[in-house]
Amino acid sequence: MSKKNICPLCGGEKKKGKTTFSVDLNFGVVVIRNVPALVCKRCGADWLSHCVSNKIEQAVKDARKKQNLVEVSFYEKLVS
Ligand SMILES: [Zn+2]
Repeated sequence: MSKKNICPLCGGEKKKGKTTFSVDLNFGVVVIRNVPALVCKRCGADWLSHCVSNKIEQAVKDARKKQNLVEVSFYEKLVS
């Protein structure tokens, strides 16, 4: 087991999985589901790759323009 797959928070094992990203903007909340991430099996902390976080950043910018109170999206939609 390589060291980068160890959670720095609890020492648990990180596994490839899916997570739900959410961010609270002043006007509302943006939620993105099915985001690919490394998720700690023990404490549930997650890590996103650079590529993934760039995509999410773009989606948050779009949501900011729309000013919806709640914006729920799926990661598959962002990349397609
Ligand atoms: Zn952990």
